[in-house]
Amino acid sequence: MTKKVLVLGSSFAGLTAAFTLKHDLHDDVDVTVVSPRNLFVFNPSLIWLPFGKRDRDDITFDVAPVLDEHGIDFIHQAATSIDPEAQTVSLADGSNQSYDYLVVATGYYNDLDVVDGFRENTTTITALPAAEESEQAWLKYLENPGDIVIGATQGASCFGAAYEFLFNTSYHLKKNKLKDRVKLTYVTSEPFLGHFGIGGLPNGDKLLGTFLKKEGIDVRLNASVDHFDDGAVTLSDGEQLPYSYSMFIPPFLGQDFLKDVPGLADPKGYIPVRDTYQTNDHDNIYAVGIAAQVTAPWQTPTPVGIPKTGFPTEQMAHVAAVNIASQIRGQVPHETKEFADIPAVCVMDAGNNGVIILADKMLPPRKHGVLIPGPQAHLMKLGFEKYFLWKMKGGHVALP
Ligand SMILES: Cc1cc2nc3c(=O)[nH]c(=O)nc-3n(C[C@H](O)[C@H](O)[C@H](O)COP(=O)(O)OP(=O)(O)OC[C@H]3O[C@@H](n4cnc5c(N)ncnc54)[C@H](O)[C@@H]3O)c2cc1C
Repeated sequence: MTKKVLVLGSSFAGLTAAFTLKHDLHDDVDVTVVSPRNLFVFNPSLIWLPFGKRDRDDITFDVAPVLDEHGIDFIHQAATSIDPEAQTVSLADGSNQSYDYLVVATGYYNDLDVVDGFRENTTTITALPAAEESEQAWLKYLENPGDIVIGATQGASCFGAAYEFLFNTSYHLKKNKLKDRVKLTYVTSEPFLGHFGIGGLPNGDKLLGTFLKKEGIDVRLNASVDHFDDGAVTLSDGEQLPYSYSMFIPPFLGQDFLKDVPGLADPKGYIPVRDTYQTNDHDNIYAVGIAAQVTAPWQTPTPVGIPKTGFPTEQMAHVAAVNIASQIRGQVPHETKEFADIPAVCVMDAGNNGVIILADKMLPPRKHGVLIPGPQAHLMKLGFEKYFLWKMKGGHVALP
């Protein structure tokens, strides 16, 4: 009988796993994607939304017709529970789906309760609707400009987006001829500039320090936020930074329902996995992308998370798909790729400039790591956005 693979999630990890499996096994596998969100969102472009450089139509597409073209079913529902013994997943509409193999690619949600007053008094860009709200706040700000604070709270992991947004804010302040009268401050839980949640790269702190100095940006390192009030953030050392506009990156959490499955997820909702991306207790349940647990090989004075960016997310999903295909063919899963050993490949945009980030491994110890600044990085990000959306929309997930 044809084996059935259920993929929970329709973003970077879920689509990559679903397309890879279907393209490999064709009619020898039934693939169904389950997700409460029918839109694929190219998150890296959310940094541009508040400034009106992109809107939702530019950076999203409907996954249902795209999956259908490739013979993959789509169910527009949230999964609410998993029964590993019965091999079923319950959905929000009360129905059940059975599976032979399950890929959990349910990513993150924003932990907006990390600090009192976050929800009410600051904006964020780490989800599409939130970035749209941040755009409204920016438009209001332009009517009555004042100081700005951009930051990443304790436990945040998406530092690349924080830096990108910081430098894009500085760029747009210049464009609006506000730069000279606005104090721009960066507040971060990182122990040093350019830590990025991956332990930093050679000369990264110096390079970012130079960037910040050139742009006249103040910085608070190793910072922990105590609370947000209307128009001010208070740090845990008591310092208060007033603002007329702010954007903070919160920590991410895995989906809560995963914690109800005995032994599956950690207290943050992330799923510990083997190098094959199989879960520890179940050979037929995989977890990939942000949903997979990754542990930091260091401790920082203020907690910082590890960014599970797009490239490693796709790599994890490929490994899982190859291994499921092996299992369906009656073989032992053999593909492995530890998160720490996946190369780091990222482009950090700064408005009309940027930095290309390359390293042989996501986490130290590394042999090579380099930051290449210059306007080519901005052009690269523009090109990458178009390329990636084309790639995902066409299901060309075998391409880099
Ligand atoms: C602002 C921002 C900027 C970024 N910039 C970059 C960048 O420049 N470069 C880079 O490489 N990476 C970047 N990233 C990281 C990148 O977005 C992530 O690596 C990627 O989103 C991870 O994909 P994922 O599929 O694991 O999880 P997610 O993108 O979180 O997707 C999770 C999926 O699961 C679905 N889901 C949720 N709950 C359920 C449920 N109960 N049942 C079924 N499905 C569910 C969701 O609807 C979604 O489809 C950025 C992220 C953000 C937020």
